[in-house]
Amino acid sequence: MSAALRSPSPRLAPLIAGVAYFTIASVALLCSRFEGGIAFIWAANALLMAELQTSETRYWPRAITACGIASILSTALFGMGPWAAAPMAIINIAESLIVAILCRRFIPVHLSDGSRRSLLVFIFALCIPANIVAGTGAALVASVFTPVSFGASWLQWYSGHILGGLVCTPILTMLLQGQVSEWLGETSGRKKLEVLCLLLLFSLVAVHVFFFARYPLLFLLVLPLVTIAFRIGSLGAAASIVLLALIGGGATMTGHGPIALISSDIGDRTQLFQLFLALSFLLAMPLAAELNGRRRLFQTLQASEARYRAIAEHSGDVVLNISVDGIIQYASPSAAEQIGCAPALLVGRAAEIVVDPQDRAEVNGAHQRALARPGDVQTVEFRPAAFTDGADWCEMVTRAMLDEQGLPTGVVSTIRDMSRHKARQRALQRVAAVDTLTGADSRWAFLEKLDQEIQRVARGAQACLLLIDIDHFKSINDRYGHGVGDQVLSSFVERLRPGLRGGDSIGRLGGEEFAILLTGADIQRASMVCERLRDMVSERRISTVGCESVIVTFSAGLVELKGRADRAELLDAADKALYRAKNSGRNCLRLAA
Ligand code: GH3
Ligand code: MG
Ligand code: MG
Repeated sequence: MSAALRSPSPRLAPLIAGVAYFTIASVALLCSRFEGGIAFIWAANALLMAELQTSETRYWPRAITACGIASILSTALFGMGPWAAAPMAIINIAESLIVAILCRRFIPVHLSDGSRRSLLVFIFALCIPANIVAGTGAALVASVFTPVSFGASWLQWYSGHILGGLVCTPILTMLLQGQVSEWLGETSGRKKLEVLCLLLLFSLVAVHVFFFARYPLLFLLVLPLVTIAFRIGSLGAAASIVLLALIGGGATMTGHGPIALISSDIGDRTQLFQLFLALSFLLAMPLAAELNGRRRLFQTLQASEARYRAIAEHSGDVVLNISVDGIIQYASPSAAEQIGCAPALLVGRAAEIVVDPQDRAEVNGAHQRALARPGDVQTVEFRPAAFTDGADWCEMVTRAMLDEQGLPTGVVSTIRDMSRHKARQRALQRVAAVDTLTGADSRWAFLEKLDQEIQRVARGAQACLLLIDIDHFKSINDRYGHGVGDQVLSSFVERLRPGLRGGDSIGRLGGEEFAILLTGADIQRASMVCERLRDMVSERRISTVGCESVIVTFSAGLVELKGRADRAELLDAADKALYRAKNSGRNCLRLAA
């Protein structure tokens, strides 16, 4: 249904509105000024209210002017006379304008087509501010220009205008918004026939009740009215109220029907009929609005259910609906492939069966947290149960489902196979941890180990750091080329390894600079190890592919971890010692100060 505001044609629309207002107002004045004062029936303002409510505000001045002129003419010609015409026009416009402004202010555009809220705002605006203000003004005018008292005039105005507004504004609003033509366009022939039959049935019952029945059978109308509100909605309810107004109103005013049986004057009978009509309106319209709202909610739910189903059924991830106490209620088809278990076998069983026993506590924890904190998403990694083929790690993302009171009714969990991701992560970590040329630890990995060793030393362990730089390495590169230089670097590390113990580490800090972490060694022991390493490297030439072999020596700086504040201080001390070794003629070890 379209709820967009109209921008009517600037010339034709006001003219049509003015003529229609004049006609409706004149008929009402001619037929229902039973006591010579205010008309008992007034639907003209419903037209102006519908015009204003459905159009953009820039059209309002034209509509108001046209209906204002129409009001002046009808009052002057058929109502309380020319002197009352202008004040009555102002009062009529005030009533319509108050309703239109309040509706525009408090009804969001998307709700202006038959929601419960829009109906309540409209009824409130019409019954309380608009007609209390307008009724008071009109009763004052009537008490000046006619013999009818202020109180009687007020009541006549109030009941006539409330009823005219309630009965006619909704249907006129729907007509102007194009909802009737839209409905005609999109409704099947069968449904149209049903609507026609229901409205015809309602009319026949109304004709019978008001013209032929020997007993007062007003209650007979309730059943078809409620049926119409259920089957057709707001449009049908509004249409039947108009039919009821025409048939019942015509009958009551011509002395027929149950209300005409009351021995009272026509004014009282008209007001009683209006009360009946108002109650019929208040029965049918809110019911239809409520059903409208539910229908819309149902459509939204259906759409979201279809979307969710499409995602669940075609996703590579496994989607599980799990009850509050951990029982699987739905498993998507991918469960068969991803966790090696057909969805039908999972439904009704505890969700923890898909999880390896080692990780069940953690997964259960995530389930409980999701239930305790609705709205939050819980992510947990776990090893799947043994029946899962190939997958060694899965990730589960869990979120609570809530009922209308906001209480959790269970959770939705998606499970994704993380094995490939984990394997890639491990491979990347391995690559990053090892220097590809020499196989020594990378700078990053070595410094990590150094940090860990610093912590151990703080707890009482012993360790030393040896910083090594190959002597005159540049000349090897210069003489034999970079490729040979690379081979020498690789062989250099191979030479060192046998001199180290299992807990020791060797890392390449950069270029031809290496570091060795000697665990469980004090400075004397570490010095001995270093001297042995120097011998191991220099005692034999390092042979390279396609070149003569080269003699390699290195200089080293040694520092004990104990007593050094942090890694930076440690490296700085070792570097200074190494510098001294270089200055002392190379191929030697110096201890840090
Ligand atoms: P010293 O340390 O005894 O003072 O002399 P050096 O010739 O070794 O001087 P320095 O440490 O300044 O030079 C290091 C050289 O190592 C410079 C650079 O070209 C070379 N180098 C650094 N990384 C690599 C590498 O990965 N492969 C090869 N082939 N050479 C490298
Ligand atoms: Mg160097
Ligand atoms: Mg060097």
